[in-house]
Amino acid sequence: MAIAPLMPVYPRCAVRPVRGEGCYLISENGDRYLDFASGIAVNILGHGHPHLVKAIQEQTATLMHVSNLYGSPQGEAFAKRLLKHCFADTVFFTNSGVEAIECAIKTARRFHYVTGNPQRTKLIAFSNAFHGRTLGAISATNQPKMRDGFEPLLPGFEVLNFNDLAAAEAAVDDHTAGFLVEPIQGEGGIRPATDEFLHGLRRICDEKGLMLIFDEVQCGYGRSGTFFAHEQYGLTPDIMAVAKGIGGGFPLGACLATEYAAQGMVFGTHGSTYGGNPLAMAAGQAILDVIMEDGFFDHVIKMGKILEEKLNELVKKYPELCLEARGRGLIRGIKVTVQPRDFVAHLRDNHALLTVAAADNVIRILPPLVIEEKHIAEFIEKLEAGLKSYSPAAAA
Ligand SMILES: *Cc1c(COP(=O)(O)O)cnc(C)c1O
Repeated sequence: MAIAPLMPVYPRCAVRPVRGEGCYLISENGDRYLDFASGIAVNILGHGHPHLVKAIQEQTATLMHVSNLYGSPQGEAFAKRLLKHCFADTVFFTNSGVEAIECAIKTARRFHYVTGNPQRTKLIAFSNAFHGRTLGAISATNQPKMRDGFEPLLPGFEVLNFNDLAAAEAAVDDHTAGFLVEPIQGEGGIRPATDEFLHGLRRICDEKGLMLIFDEVQCGYGRSGTFFAHEQYGLTPDIMAVAKGIGGGFPLGACLATEYAAQGMVFGTHGSTYGGNPLAMAAGQAILDVIMEDGFFDHVIKMGKILEEKLNELVKKYPELCLEARGRGLIRGIKVTVQPRDFVAHLRDNHALLTVAAADNVIRILPPLVIEEKHIAEFIEKLEAGLKSYSPAAAA
């Protein structure tokens, strides 16, 4: 048997990071990379941020973990602070994005169960969405690479075209529990929902008593230039899944809900051994300390604008490789004419620049939110050098 010690489900590349310094990653052999991937939108304060490191070190020495059977002053304090900054009234803490999605699915189903519509079990999700890898979350996608060989999946999901409001409206029936949607699709290729689409879903939910669930695992937590991306649309969901940036690299997620939406989630209906333990809460608090400082989101918007302008210039200058730049704040993408995975590898291996491939032929650009203009300048320089030196034939 020659199976790898790490179950070989990832196509791991040759870069083996062992240290991080701000917006840079340093590999085992000493190479230094500009990190515009951020662990896929996770390291929002970059690597080794002193405030986050100190908070985790201190909490580790004080109290790392206790069971959720005990009172949690740490959890209550972080929950109250988080809820002050968003639509929700209550939160369940998880260790990952997909667990936040699972909790959101369960919260929506339980809502209908306890409000006299137990048949409303079906969630409508959308094409190219990514909600994580549990059986529940892969049931909410239509992507064969995630589903094949894992059937039977969970019943009660339907996948429609993203941004097609008419289709969503037509699909609602007596079994519909609600909608599950990313306001800005991440893995799907940095595709923002249209205003009309999100507002339409909100209206349908209000008219029919359904649950609107936002997956802001990737686009949330300041990445789009506001704390949550949906703020830019001027509406709120009933339930929302958050993770990635919330712990800045510490495994943490959250399922947030209004009191109304969470009415089915009573004693005994859900749980997690690690979820929201004191160490995770300390990491979450440290992240909030930094991102809630005056001017933090303004900085994200400002850096996002500069990046957007420069990306648009490059797209114009290299039309044979670049079709379009899109996104908001510091969740950006360039649609390319070549295999995005090959081009991401080219930037990584030849120009010491880390980006992430996505669906729809897009290269994702997800820098730490604390980047400065000099990092953008270095990024653009490396990207342009990569565009100049790229020959698809050589990569293939
Ligand atoms: C990453 C991601 C998830 C899954 O998060 P995990 O922490 O990997 O479980 C869910 N939804 C979206 C939009 C994501 O980007």
